[in-house]
Amino acid sequence: MPLDEFSLIERYFDAPCARGDVRLGIGDDAALLDVPSGRSLAAAIDTLVEGVHFPPDTPPEAIGYKALAVNLSDLAAMAAEPAWATLALTLPRAEPAWLDAFAAGFFRLAERHGVCLVGGDTTRGPLTVTVQAHGFVDATPLRRDGARPGDRILVTGSLGDAGLGLRAARGELQGPEAAVRYCLDRLRYPAPRLAQGRLLHGQASAGIDVSDGLLADLQHLLDAGGVGAELEVDCLPRSPAFCELVKADSDDWFELPLSAGDDFELCVTVPEARIAAVCEAFAREALPLTAIGRIVAEPGLRCRRADGSAWQPRSLGWRHFEGEGG
Ligand code: ADP
Ligand code: MG
Repeated sequence: MPLDEFSLIERYFDAPCARGDVRLGIGDDAALLDVPSGRSLAAAIDTLVEGVHFPPDTPPEAIGYKALAVNLSDLAAMAAEPAWATLALTLPRAEPAWLDAFAAGFFRLAERHGVCLVGGDTTRGPLTVTVQAHGFVDATPLRRDGARPGDRILVTGSLGDAGLGLRAARGELQGPEAAVRYCLDRLRYPAPRLAQGRLLHGQASAGIDVSDGLLADLQHLLDAGGVGAELEVDCLPRSPAFCELVKADSDDWFELPLSAGDDFELCVTVPEARIAAVCEAFAREALPLTAIGRIVAEPGLRCRRADGSAWQPRSLGWRHFEGEGG
């Protein structure tokens, strides 16, 4: 029996929801949701287009997972507590095996963070997945615009892994199998840094998630604060897999952590007076938090080697519509 739109929604997406703040979920013209009193709603939306955001041979489980993960990463960068999601799915055809795997990836991550899927839209067309995630923030969420001269710049986890993963997905990466697999997983299954966002809440002066590459995203944070930055490129956090796959004297050693996208780590600024408290909080965490530079008053972004010499990056990171004018 062919799968019509409504049996598709019921079969794959109308999952039970345990949240008491969902008065009405999937099935009516709109979901009805209760925001706790005294808190604000944080809403983030991201679209993944086949061939632009993921290669055509990406496993459907990874597409479902990542469509939600990139939105939860935006909520993490606001120190928000995630609650609900909506899903707009455009599919060339309704294939049960594909939908099973896509839904498994989506709900695996949703359940991990207590997120309920409360609605969406299903249409036919070129494969495109849009997720909107909703969460709650208190009166002082983490924002992009609070960095001040003297603040330290820190980043969670490691950078450059997903850039290597993209090469692996294209068959352009040779090296030990476990290291290649690690990078491919970092590209396909990024972990939204929600717990880290909460730890940094109240301590960090500004924050952003690294989706387009450190230089590009840090520049947004600098623009929002009207400040500049000095980065120590030898201090950038590199994973053991990265260190196995990339030579320390190659350009990639610097360029990938600076400019490759899709790592979904958090980049934050922390006033010097709060550094000790932040480091103590992260000492108990499995994920490292690494100091990579400092905010300065003079606008612009300068990169330095450990010996004090300047490092001139080649690329600034990923931009849509680049070079098209207008
Ligand atoms: P309407 O035509 O009123 O916009 P739809 O017929 O598109 O509603 O959808 C019916 C119900 O199913 C709605 O509650 C909608 O939110 C939900 N829905 C549709 N597509 C999805 C999807 N991909 N995932 C989750 N819920 C969906
Ligand atoms: Mg309707």
